[in-house]
Amino acid sequence: MALLSLPSIVVLENSTNVDELGAPDEACPLTQRKSSYRSIASLQRDLARCRACSEAGFPLESLPVRAPLAAQRAYMYGQAPGIVEGEERLPWRGRAGRTLRRWLDMDEGTFYATFFCASVTRCYPGRAASGRGDRVPTPREQELCAFWREWELELLRPRLIVAVGGLAIRALLGVSSLDCVGERHELAGASVVPLPHPSGASSWPSLPGNRERLARALALVQQELTHLH
Ligand code: SF4
Repeated sequence: MALLSLPSIVVLENSTNVDELGAPDEACPLTQRKSSYRSIASLQRDLARCRACSEAGFPLESLPVRAPLAAQRAYMYGQAPGIVEGEERLPWRGRAGRTLRRWLDMDEGTFYATFFCASVTRCYPGRAASGRGDRVPTPREQELCAFWREWELELLRPRLIVAVGGLAIRALLGVSSLDCVGERHELAGASVVPLPHPSGASSWPSLPGNRERLARALALVQQELTHLH
């Protein structure tokens, strides 16, 4: 049984062609969304060339950022890649990633070996028009990108999902506050542990009581990981 219901979008046509390294390739097929995937490798091949948001008219400043697949035990779901991630096309490469690893007390190797990293949207959305921080992907972009998450969850069936940041928490749990940090939730048989975003842009961790909530959440992640050994 699917962890989440699958979206109706199947195949997008007339899109920009990109090759595996992100360079335009006239010979490659267009952005593809199959009606069904049997392997994560096949899904990742199609994700690598996804341009659905550009085709829908949204400005993007990178190609999709993808997790290196390495039989990870858990699924980490973030918000959207930053500029460094967009350039490297790898998740959690910048300062927020370093903070997250410090929170989890993991070095890079352990972190990437433990978590299959995904996010609400997979391409760097560019700077916000206000000039403060990055642009928040629109609801339509989030909806377009949910296709990849839903198939990843279907194929990987993780027993632990760590949702990082308000956008990711809302997408998975449907709640729009960080009051759920410090609690364990369930989604179709998986434990979901929400964390605040480690970007440093939010004042949430310094508000009264939130340091303790964060500590509880991090302890829950460690506890859940222990069960997955
Ligand atoms: S953000 Fe997601 S849906 Fe949009 S182009 Fe990138 S991979 Fe595709």
